[in-house]
Amino acid sequence: MKPKVAFFDFASCEGCQLAVLNCEDVFLNILELVDIVEFREAMSETAPRFDVAFIEGSIHREQDVQRLQDIRARSTVLVAMGACACMGNVQARSNFIAPAQNFQWVYGEAERNSLQTDPEFWPLWAHTRVRAVKEIVAVDFELRGCPMVPEEFVHLVKSLVIGSTPHFPANAVCVECKMDENECVFDHGETCMGPITYGGCKAVCVTGGYRCDGCRGLLPHAHREAHRWLLKEKGLSDAHIDNRYRLFCSTQFQGREKP
Ligand code: SF4
Ligand code: SF4
Ligand code: SF4
Repeated sequence: MKPKVAFFDFASCEGCQLAVLNCEDVFLNILELVDIVEFREAMSETAPRFDVAFIEGSIHREQDVQRLQDIRARSTVLVAMGACACMGNVQARSNFIAPAQNFQWVYGEAERNSLQTDPEFWPLWAHTRVRAVKEIVAVDFELRGCPMVPEEFVHLVKSLVIGSTPHFPANAVCVECKMDENECVFDHGETCMGPITYGGCKAVCVTGGYRCDGCRGLLPHAHREAHRWLLKEKGLSDAHIDNRYRLFCSTQFQGREKP
């Protein structure tokens, strides 16, 4: 019997689900290997249980927590898909801002003043904290990046179908960047998150003429102290560096590393 696979979205742009649907060259082959039983972006059916649940998006509200726990209870394997699910992504930056201030920036002062006095609305909003999926339930595998890398998705599905463990090497983005023979942006006075960021994206941003901003998250063995020292040597202030570290993965950078 084919494994039952389901996709669920929380706070996200749904770009990772789109990346799944965009695996055009292999999508039909995937459908031969698995039964997709729930996928709001592509079908209306739902299912009571699944072998693999893919979770896209960060978790904000109490009702999201309950929904996620329910999905975990109904799935054998749970995969966090994309930077929102793995690390909270850019939306988790709001965890460092007072809710009233944040609300005013987004909706304006008049709206804030009216909604802040609403006893139904405001307590819910004011106590929202953006969390990664693994802060709430056990996660079996992570598909990193914003968006996740389709080749890694296919590798994961194939591995699960044949009963092997998918392998995602814990190399820095710099490794693939060097293999692509890119010139290092540090040599041009720019700064980059590549040395401390989980590779697997083929350093696509540097290859495309930009820098790495770290959307795949912090490597487990990253030497953050040395990286901060390097950025400071390039003239960045501690506040600027904190800002760069928190762009995609503020749930991983709760405080400054010890010198
Ligand atoms: S990780 Fe990026 S592409 Fe994927 S849902 Fe989040 S914002 Fe969208
Ligand atoms: S450009 Fe960035 S990713 Fe590439 S080698 Fe330099 S620091 Fe590493
Ligand atoms: S180069 Fe950096 S920012 Fe770009 S996709 Fe890879 S990890 Fe993300």
